[in-house]
Amino acid sequence: MKPGIAERVTGTDNRVMEQNEWQRRIARAEELGAQYTFAAEILRFYSAIARFQEDFHGELGRELERATVVASDSEPFARPLPPELTGRFGTFLSVVEQNGPGPLREAAGELRSGSEDSHFQLLAVFWNGSDAGALPPGPHDFFARAFLQPYAASIRSRSNMRWNGPTPYLCPFCKRKPGLGVLRPLGDGGQRSLLCSFCLAEWEFRRIVCPGCREENHAKLPVYTAEELKHVRVEACDSCRSYIKTVDMTKSGRAEPIVDEMASIPLDLWAQKQGYTKLQPNLLQL
Ligand SMILES: [Zn+2]
Ligand SMILES: [Zn+2]
Repeated sequence: MKPGIAERVTGTDNRVMEQNEWQRRIARAEELGAQYTFAAEILRFYSAIARFQEDFHGELGRELERATVVASDSEPFARPLPPELTGRFGTFLSVVEQNGPGPLREAAGELRSGSEDSHFQLLAVFWNGSDAGALPPGPHDFFARAFLQPYAASIRSRSNMRWNGPTPYLCPFCKRKPGLGVLRPLGDGGQRSLLCSFCLAEWEFRRIVCPGCREENHAKLPVYTAEELKHVRVEACDSCRSYIKTVDMTKSGRAEPIVDEMASIPLDLWAQKQGYTKLQPNLLQL
């Protein structure tokens, strides 16, 4: 089936059209969880996180609508983190305690017994850290990133920020690293874009360039695919030995890039066995 036809079919179904971006990700996570046993557990956990994120995003949307200052803000990510966000952090920690894998569950329990002030400190360290990553990969990075993601997505979509000049290697909005690539149908081929690992912005990016070290030599940028996961590619770089996964929408128009990236765990295991390091771990720190 051609992607254009698939889109039209979806377009006639109002029920599908009304789904917001979080609902589409949750639905896709359920679908892939049933299909890929190796990813079932991780996708169940992701669905629980995404349900919280959807609620939080809706709430923030209503609040931000009233605060018109954000709408005209050209640099929302330079502003300090609003302390009142911390009020919802306890609820998020409970979601992780109920649904997360063992080590995260324990870490969530420990954090929940801490003060609201210590919670704000943790979130602010992540918020102010941008690319260098003020928090090392691990539970604390996960808690802050996953909890603040709906806020980041909200202010990004409301800001009037624009960029010009060369294609950015970091997210043009929040300055974090891209978490994955997306190939979208364009003419006979595909246009690559990168997707921010935090605020979920998507920006166009040349196909034959390493987003880690800017290598442009075709021979040093091998692409790998696996028979069972044809629509997800490992795009590696033999100069800096990093890799990023790209979800190929020309092969699967139904994919939800973030979810399909997360589900394709065997590709990460394979890439890491070849000695490549992921440019940026995904939300679940994989
Ligand atoms: Zn971003
Ligand atoms: Zn590279």
